[in-house]
Amino acid sequence: MDKPVRLVILGGGTAGWMAANLFAKRWSRTQVHITLMESPEIPIIGVGEGSTPSLKRFFKQLDLTEQEWMPACHATYKTNIRFVGWSPASGVQEYSHPFYSQPDVFNERTFFTNCRTRRLGLDVITDPEKFFINGELARQGKMPIAPPNFPFQMEYGYHFDSQLLGHYLASVARARGVVHHQAKLAEVLRNDRGEITALQTDAGDLLAGDFFIDCTGFASLLMQKALAVPFHSYQQQLFNDSAVVMPTPALARPPVETRSTALSAGWCWQIPLTHRTGNGYVYSSQFISRDQAETEFRAHIGMSNSSESCRHLSMRVGQLAQHWSHNCVGLGLSQGFIEPLEATALHLVQLTVEALMDAWDDHQFTSNGRDHFNRTVANHFDGVRDYIIAHYKLNTRGLNNTQGSDYWRANRDNTQLPESLLQILDVWYRCGDLTAELAQRTIKPAFNSASWHCLLAGYGAFPPLATNQPGQGKGDLYRECKVADFVEGCAMNFPLFL
Ligand SMILES: Cc1cc2nc3c(=O)[nH]c(=O)nc-3n(C[C@H](O)[C@H](O)[C@H](O)COP(=O)(O)OP(=O)(O)OC[C@H]3O[C@@H](n4cnc5c(N)ncnc54)[C@H](O)[C@@H]3O)c2cc1C
Repeated sequence: MDKPVRLVILGGGTAGWMAANLFAKRWSRTQVHITLMESPEIPIIGVGEGSTPSLKRFFKQLDLTEQEWMPACHATYKTNIRFVGWSPASGVQEYSHPFYSQPDVFNERTFFTNCRTRRLGLDVITDPEKFFINGELARQGKMPIAPPNFPFQMEYGYHFDSQLLGHYLASVARARGVVHHQAKLAEVLRNDRGEITALQTDAGDLLAGDFFIDCTGFASLLMQKALAVPFHSYQQQLFNDSAVVMPTPALARPPVETRSTALSAGWCWQIPLTHRTGNGYVYSSQFISRDQAETEFRAHIGMSNSSESCRHLSMRVGQLAQHWSHNCVGLGLSQGFIEPLEATALHLVQLTVEALMDAWDDHQFTSNGRDHFNRTVANHFDGVRDYIIAHYKLNTRGLNNTQGSDYWRANRDNTQLPESLLQILDVWYRCGDLTAELAQRTIKPAFNSASWHCLLAGYGAFPPLATNQPGQGKGDLYRECKVADFVEGCAMNFPLFL
């Protein structure tokens, strides 16, 4: 397969414009010609407003500063995800998953050791947010932006208005030479090897290309429809297939974290932006009807008496059997989706584009290169899937007289778990070394050991306390290593948000 020169992206949602920008930046001094075609009649999905720290790297790669893009997208900082009500029977009302930053290298071992000590039955501190600087910033409502003399690199994500982010990225891409073609796809033309040669628009124009990127959202017009690439569903393990969303006014002091609250048949996000608050209930239609979900959602966000309408969405959860087939790659919702609990969709978009660009630059436009790409991307998806499933499998809602439902019971009782996840849980419950287990995997896991420890410790996934304790605070490295002094001392360097 020759290196493609004419790249055609079909679809102008966040995935399409992210790809267009990354290509345009990496290949600005080459012969590569990039065209993005989208239909003005078919709206983008318009949800997806939280990110992981990889979005910070994305903007850096594009040389776009926070001063430029954040106000244009009403963006806020995200240091943390707070999970509320997922594991009440273990005594945990809420816990945090802070993004890992450079100063955390000092406390990570202490946290891991305390988690192991607690798994052995000793009463030690294991709340993730107490060990990680971003957890403390979230608690204090501080921005993760340190003064220049703070000697560590901070990692964080963002919240943003997805419509505005799309517009912003489109304007940058156009200014950097991407050709924007507004038309609806009518037909996909292919040669006798099955490769796509051109897209025909409903106006009869032909858009010829050497390589195509399918960013058509859940429609997956090139990968699933034209090339008939099979789809591997995750629905046996991840039951959520629907969402209902509605914004509320901006909070007086927006927190620097996403809040994810467990409800009767799913969970609700709260994403603070500067001009409004995004809310959405992600649920399983097997366990609750659309109307019941809306009623519960409205009550949860305090909008029961509002005449404003909600928006309902369906979600298809899983991934393509191949992300690259013939001369086409699926990207964004067209390649798959693993529900928004850890806001990983744009992260996966970015990793997919980077893997493709590396294949191009390393002369790997071969069948071996394509197989390697497909294994890499599939592994990222599976890694995220495992981490998300664990949130449902480990829930304790309904145990010990706490409020539960069939949905939470079914998740807890689900035995259709991937082997890769079972191994992690097995190591944890056998008091093994989770870091070593993850490190020996041939492909790097999507979530690192710190994130797995946050999840498992945050859930309170521990045996009952031993009756014979060594005495108040003994063996508790949180106290002995004065972790609180370090974390709180670091946090003093950071400014309050707004
Ligand atoms: C409920 C929910 C919550 C989410 N939350 C998050 C989150 O917090 N964080 C995160 O990272 N992600 C999240 N996501 C995922 C995120 O919304 C998407 O990954 C992201 O918006 C990218 O979408 P897309 O570009 O793949 O598709 P879309 O936005 O659907 O864009 C599809 C594009 O294809 C074009 N198109 C379609 N058909 C044709 C045609 N016939 N001819 C021409 N053009 C066509 C459309 O015009 C449009 O431009 C969430 C998703 C859902 C469903």
